[in-house]
Amino acid sequence: MKSKELIQGAEENLFHVYNRFPVVFDRGEGVHLYDVDGKEYLDFASGIGVMAFGYGDKEYGDALKAQIDKLTHTSNLYYHEPMIAAAEQVCKVSGMDKVFFTNSGAEAIEGAIKTAKKYAFLRDGFAGHEIIAMEHSFHGRTVGSLSVTGTEHYRSPFLPLMDGVRFATFNDLNSVKEQITDKTCAIVMETIQGEGGLYPAEETFLKGVRKLCDEQDILLILDEIQCGMGRSGAMFAWQKYGVKPDIMTSAKALGAGVPVGAFLLTDKVAASSLVPGDHGTTYGGNPLVCAAVNTTIHMMEERKIPEHVESLSSYLEEVLDEVASSYDFVEGRRGMGFMQGLVLSIPVGDVVKKALDAGLVVLSAGGNVLRFLPPLVIEKEDIDAMAAILRDVFNKMK
Ligand SMILES: *Cc1c(COP(=O)(O)O)cnc(C)c1O
Repeated sequence: MKSKELIQGAEENLFHVYNRFPVVFDRGEGVHLYDVDGKEYLDFASGIGVMAFGYGDKEYGDALKAQIDKLTHTSNLYYHEPMIAAAEQVCKVSGMDKVFFTNSGAEAIEGAIKTAKKYAFLRDGFAGHEIIAMEHSFHGRTVGSLSVTGTEHYRSPFLPLMDGVRFATFNDLNSVKEQITDKTCAIVMETIQGEGGLYPAEETFLKGVRKLCDEQDILLILDEIQCGMGRSGAMFAWQKYGVKPDIMTSAKALGAGVPVGAFLLTDKVAASSLVPGDHGTTYGGNPLVCAAVNTTIHMMEERKIPEHVESLSSYLEEVLDEVASSYDFVEGRRGMGFMQGLVLSIPVGDVVKKALDAGLVVLSAGGNVLRFLPPLVIEKEDIDAMAAILRDVFNKMK
């Protein structure tokens, strides 16, 4: 077994910050991954929601290869065509007015936080503003993004984090109201909570928060890093609610396999917040990743990916509901579109490990949720194949 040796070598040098599963992936094709020993896996994780088109798509690969041969990096001191096109595309599909490209989701959140703080600083003439974030949220691992992440065990070793963050309960409008002070500059939340356990925002909640923000000139920051780019059944999940943010973050599937994120804002916020000198990035939005963004958006539109997710998600839900009702240790299902979770009363890590052994890649979330983030191009037969493997795994755990 080639993988055993490779894993031993890996642990000699890699900082052990992940408890990785004992699999060494080698290549992918469609919705399948293959490890170095040639074993096939059905992928219902897509590299944590990144690989929207699965693996080895020719159009995607050709576009990136062409850009590699042409130009991969310039820095942000100059213009380049891939970024100009990517900015136009991402603003068009989101309905937002301006974009700043980053290298990751966490960096998109950092930029969103700085933008909101500067907006309030210019309006009020002083700093010291507060941000309201949600319990069980996840916004990233950098110090700023961790400051608005509502999971205690991610945070506690690193205290003190950024000052002035208050936590409210997701889907509880009163708890948000209770945290508003005259210093509140922004409310940040995922439209659908991912890592925290697959909780979609309730429509009345999201609309209520939007109204509070409008009444008190508080900026609404919606984190669409996981739920955006077609996964909910719309290009961005907030578009299903008819609630538009002032600032939005994107990453994960934005480049469908290269490290790129973005924060987007309205003209109102852009006109009175960050100015040259306030923010920057060396790599952010380089020609290679912007070529990926352009190709991704083009392919999503041309292949009607959000529509595909929207029309097939009821089948995925039906199949998962059937599985849920067959096993006592499955308490239920939660999610939206191709972002689904089964709530378990048995250790979820164990299930993920056994599914992997059985050739199915799935994820966990929120401590007790089995999370499904399949490539957005899966078809009915892939859902059936997933359910068959999952039932095999569950049958052995009864
Ligand atoms: C993954 C994720 C992030 C962080 O993105 P990174 O690219 O890992 O920094 C932030 N917010 C949400 C909702 C995420 O799912």
